[in-house]
Amino acid sequence: MQVKNRQKQDIANPQNDPAIAAVMDRYAVSLTDTVLAAMDPQNPQDPVARQYLPAAAELVNTPEELDDPIGDEAHSPVKGIVHRYPDRVLLKPVHVCAVYCRFCFRREKVGPGSEALSAEELATALDYIRNAPNVWEVILTGGDPFVLSPRRLAEIMAALNAIPHVEVIRFHTRVPIAAPDRVTAEMIAALASDKAVYVVVHANHAQELTAAVKECLRRFVAAGMPLLSQSTLLRGVNDNPQALENLFRALTAIKVKPYYLHHPDLAPGTSHFRLPIAEGQALLRSLQGRVSGIALPRYMLDIPGGHGKVPVEPRWIEPAVDGNGYKLRDYRGGTHTYEIKKPKDV
Ligand code: SF4
Repeated sequence: MQVKNRQKQDIANPQNDPAIAAVMDRYAVSLTDTVLAAMDPQNPQDPVARQYLPAAAELVNTPEELDDPIGDEAHSPVKGIVHRYPDRVLLKPVHVCAVYCRFCFRREKVGPGSEALSAEELATALDYIRNAPNVWEVILTGGDPFVLSPRRLAEIMAALNAIPHVEVIRFHTRVPIAAPDRVTAEMIAALASDKAVYVVVHANHAQELTAAVKECLRRFVAAGMPLLSQSTLLRGVNDNPQALENLFRALTAIKVKPYYLHHPDLAPGTSHFRLPIAEGQALLRSLQGRVSGIALPRYMLDIPGGHGKVPVEPRWIEPAVDGNGYKLRDYRGGTHTYEIKKPKDV
């Protein structure tokens, strides 16, 4: 799936700019026909182009940036497994993607050359899950697990289906958004399970939801797989209320529940995408009440160092100064009290 043909190479670096060439040497670049069709590659401000086309700003590293910003390595007991929370693990069978997002939090790990776990490594990772009875949910991520062939997906599913304590299998993927043609009937059939199978798609702008993408997502729904989305809040892509509203409404209307809006991680060369958390909170505040609750994701931060995700949403409630209840703010900005009165003596 890596850029191979001349035409796509020219689109990624149309002026043969040495800075862009240096970025392309440093980080993986790949475009699909689907993302090319969804963007205006001549417009550097295009919200889809910004996600995929390399930029000279990626050569800037800031002191807080980390090669492993969410601390996967510290929680990896065997290759391909990240066990950060008691009841769930990440299983990373492959380290390549259909496209390479310029803000990717695993950009130091993904790309051509990283490829997939070997058969032995995958067997060891599955053994780890088999021998961890507290693991209730397995989250397949990567890379992008949907770049695997239907045959390999079916093998992994068969192994997970046979582990009684695994009740939920979740896929994190960009493929339905960036390469919907890879989602074949064989692939959908390979995901069949008596267990709950959730598919979490990664989309950041409504412009990515083309007719082909919508048709692809319909096939998962028809096969009985619940769809969720995760998005990253990105400067110049979706950092305004209208873009976020359009994205979340469009996803919800095609039966994809907006799940998480991630604050961008401290990945190397991504400072041009990051905005202050306070700005993200103000954006979330502006959407409260304006957009149906079923269309609102949680605003999440992955704590650097591997300490897990926490919501960093704006606060709507605080203790009242007199200690008798709470002060609440409504979505229009009005303030109210929620009083808790002491019982009267009888
Ligand atoms: S698809 Fe996911 S793992 Fe791959 S580059 Fe994009 S954000 Fe990173």
